[in-house]
Amino acid sequence: MKIVCVGAGPAGLYFAISAKLRDPGHQITVLERDPPTATYGWGVVYWDDLLVTLYRNDPDSAREMKARSVLWQDQEVRVHGLRGEQTAYFGGYGYSMGRAALLEILARRASDLGVDVRYGHPLEDPSALPEADLVVAADGANSRIRQLHREDFGTRVDVGHNPYIWLGTDKTFDSFVFAFEQTSAGWLWFHAYPSFEGTSTCIVECSPKTWQALGLDTLSTDEGVRLLEDIFQRPLDGHRLISKSRGAPANWQRFAHLSNETWYRGNTVLVGDAAHTTHFTLGSGTRLAMIDAIVLAHSLNEYPDVPKALHEYDTHRRAELEPVQAKARQSMAWFEDLDRYLDQDAISFAYSMSMRQGARPPWHQQIHRATQIPAVRRARRAYDTGRRWYFNRQWDTAKSHAVAKDHETTESDVINGRTGIG
Ligand SMILES: Cc1cc2nc3c(=O)[nH]c(=O)nc-3n(C[C@H](O)[C@H](O)[C@H](O)COP(=O)(O)OP(=O)(O)OC[C@H]3O[C@@H](n4cnc5c(N)ncnc54)[C@H](O)[C@@H]3O)c2cc1C
Repeated sequence: MKIVCVGAGPAGLYFAISAKLRDPGHQITVLERDPPTATYGWGVVYWDDLLVTLYRNDPDSAREMKARSVLWQDQEVRVHGLRGEQTAYFGGYGYSMGRAALLEILARRASDLGVDVRYGHPLEDPSALPEADLVVAADGANSRIRQLHREDFGTRVDVGHNPYIWLGTDKTFDSFVFAFEQTSAGWLWFHAYPSFEGTSTCIVECSPKTWQALGLDTLSTDEGVRLLEDIFQRPLDGHRLISKSRGAPANWQRFAHLSNETWYRGNTVLVGDAAHTTHFTLGSGTRLAMIDAIVLAHSLNEYPDVPKALHEYDTHRRAELEPVQAKARQSMAWFEDLDRYLDQDAISFAYSMSMRQGARPPWHQQIHRATQIPAVRRARRAYDTGRRWYFNRQWDTAKSHAVAKDHETTESDVINGRTGIG
């Protein structure tokens, strides 16, 4: 099959890899507008459930991803208001890796499998799509292909209230840190986590009122970043914030929550952010994009008839995404309504933060209270270390091209193995 994929982000590249693994006969071209060295953003977080799925799909790239990821343990919620500084803790661990490193790994793997990845090739006119049996629109949240047929896809976009900026810092965090700072203009906060050697990701957010009152709407990027360094001097231990990763300097944005009533039109199909976005406080967009890619490749393999394959992908995967997107909206709304929660002590505040995606079992609060005790956190870390050891042992023995050889794999195996949501 001749396939053209527009966009060499995680969705486009991982689809190309997954489709080639299932059928090396596919002729796949990936068109990317930017040069290979350019990308936006810093690190992305993910958890074991993604690695489990990636090792099942393509152990080669999963192994490389794991090798270039950093581990973070525990989550800290630091609240510094007029009443002083308090810290609360969540347990758990996760991984993070630089977006640039992820794309390098995926692009190399795709090329090794025979995918033609062309950088500096923008799709200029989405009404003149390249000649192909299948066009995969993996061109991100602002997908021009989707925008051209907005009515047919039934696109809905809700733009969030809070401005945010995706920055890096030369402070090395080893936990996932949420830091909340009170200023005379209101609260600002960041979400920070390690990303790669000597660098962490730092996403700063605040209400529109605070943003304007501090003049962040009118300051230049550099001036704004210097002001944020002053405000966050304590949690950053005086370290610098960096606005430019590999592409252009970061800008303040508002998150666009995007959904579509259908993800395909004729032989054009949406994957990743082109199809759906989930607020960054869920830390899942890359993971979901890569799983879309697997499910689409799997569907094409199961149903050689393209319309049938796209229908199956659309039906199953879109239904899966609906509850995830609902959680992401709740999470975004919680952060937009933050002032309601910030007059509590840090432990209660962190607890309401953990409840933002929906109700938890009654014993969740007891566990949260216990997690504040250092000995309990140490015990949890020891348990987590054992869990990682178990996963690592399994992954070390994962065979290359497992999926290509595994004709027993069903779409629901892929879905269930992947997200841990269902
Ligand atoms: C602040 C922030 C933090 C985030 N943190 C996380 C996280 O921790 N974990 C996580 O899992 N996700 C995270 N995400 C989400 C994640 O970045 C996206 O969901 C993910 O990048 C989607 O992948 P994609 O391939 O669909 O789109 P993209 O990564 O946006 O890739 C689209 C590609 O298409 C190219 N393109 C666009 N138009 C054209 C064209 N006309 N012609 C050719 N090429 C084109 C672009 O240059 C780009 O390379 C975060 C997002 C934000 C905003």
